[in-house]
Amino acid sequence: MTRYIFIVGGVMSGIGKGVATASIARILEDRGFKCTAVKIDPYINVDAGTMNPVEHGEVYVTEDGVETDQDIGNYERFLNKNIYRDNYMTTGLVYQTVINRERNLEYGGKCVEVVPHIPEEVISRIENAGQKAKADFVMIEIGGTVGEYQNLLFLEAGRMMKLRHPEAVMFVLVSYLPVPDMIGEMKTKPTQYAVRTLNGAGIQPDIVLARAVVPLDKPRKEKISTFCNVMPEDIISAPDVKNIYEIPINFEKENLSWRILKKFGLKPGRNNGKKWRSFYNKTISAKKIVKIGITGKYFSSGNFTLADSYLSVIEAIKHASAHIGVKPEIHWLDAESFEKMPSRLKSLGEHHGIIVPGGFGSRGVEGKIKAIKYARENKIPFLGLCYGLQLAIVEFARNMCGLTGAHTTEVNQSTKHPVIHVLPEQAQNVKSQKNLGGSMRLGAYPCKLAKGTLAHAAYKQNLITERHRHRYEVNNDYRDSLEEMGLTISGLNPEKNLVEIIELPTSSAKGYGGQAKTHPFFLATQFHPEFKSRPLDPHPLFVQFIKAAIK
Ligand code: GLN
Repeated sequence: MTRYIFIVGGVMSGIGKGVATASIARILEDRGFKCTAVKIDPYINVDAGTMNPVEHGEVYVTEDGVETDQDIGNYERFLNKNIYRDNYMTTGLVYQTVINRERNLEYGGKCVEVVPHIPEEVISRIENAGQKAKADFVMIEIGGTVGEYQNLLFLEAGRMMKLRHPEAVMFVLVSYLPVPDMIGEMKTKPTQYAVRTLNGAGIQPDIVLARAVVPLDKPRKEKISTFCNVMPEDIISAPDVKNIYEIPINFEKENLSWRILKKFGLKPGRNNGKKWRSFYNKTISAKKIVKIGITGKYFSSGNFTLADSYLSVIEAIKHASAHIGVKPEIHWLDAESFEKMPSRLKSLGEHHGIIVPGGFGSRGVEGKIKAIKYARENKIPFLGLCYGLQLAIVEFARNMCGLTGAHTTEVNQSTKHPVIHVLPEQAQNVKSQKNLGGSMRLGAYPCKLAKGTLAHAAYKQNLITERHRHRYEVNNDYRDSLEEMGLTISGLNPEKNLVEIIELPTSSAKGYGGQAKTHPFFLATQFHPEFKSRPLDPHPLFVQFIKAAIK
């Protein structure tokens, strides 16, 4: 029998519901149960691919090529397994499915209504995700907070599931308890209101996760218990942590897996969380600092700096650093500032390694190209991801091959040297600016590695698969010129002969004339390795990059 645990938010968003969901899945998995997790995004967008990362955070890509919310990345990282297409839905996707079915006469002449047809579609998607994963537990995270008009239908789906299978469905409310400075006391009232609102949707939470800056004390626990109708043992203290990987450990200190399993009448297995704890201990015990600069453009949101746009890159750096035993210090380097003030480029020299991550459009591009040139010439370890590869090619073409004005046609359609150009199957969509949602080269594709390269030494395999999200690629007409000047193509897609990895030789013994063209670690990928990095399975390219950075 599959059990379903709905996770809903109260009081405010951004309090770590995704990580809480992933952490509950982790502790149940460590008790011997098979878990999967579903994310529901209450947007009309059919997927997350059309949302600006500054507003919505990173667009995460699954193995089977869906552009999802970053929480799917949290689930994959915490569970150390792949999550597929069936585990992500938005309001738009659910409606689209129902409307398409109606257009195909599949409702046999019935009136198709918001209720019950929309919640029924949601339920069937949740059940399907559980069946496909053969899961003992399906965690279902409903985006937003209770009381929002947007997620009512998803709460309704949860309520209907509980009515049908009372013994198999449970609700967890992740709430926030503010400690206002002027009062100096933790306040429970907003949480009480959140529970009442949830009650208004016909749902009683079984567990309340009390997020706050500090741990919950006894009087607060008792208050929430009395006024929210939840046993004191089921109110779990979830104070802020510096390191998200501590959260499953903290949940177990509060006996959370026991409480959940008891409610379902299940016996917990021995706690297998040893590997997780040892990973966490590594992250906190490392002393030696490695300074990594990320040169991007999706940082600022009003007066705030947002790191969420590059979440998987940050996590991949953390995993690799923990594996090696160093402590990463990540700095945000705004690409546009290098355009306005080239003297700022010198700040790159204070870093042990530079990453240019994925991106779209022209903003900040010249700044990124300048940063890549700086890293290449000053022999600072460099890792380029997707746009990072494409711009590394542009930089190399312009400055090493003498191809003045070389560019990607994404930015300059009439460039004399289109070293990066649109993928043939993308040309029509780009030209017409139609069908741009969910139509990039997405998901996992194979890549063949050339022996004797940095890439091959990192993966120790001949054939790998990695996840993609792009419309442009290296123009094969320029490959000879690039290679003549010392660029190595170390990874190729075997079916379409597309460039997937480039690098510079580490020693002149490997050819390409002259020490000037070697580099300790200069590697870029057309794919996004960051999506496959996991705490318990760090990504080999990030591991090699961090190793080079410490050197
Ligand atoms: N904008 C580039 C392309 O579409 C790179 C995309 C990315 O970095 N994910 O090909």
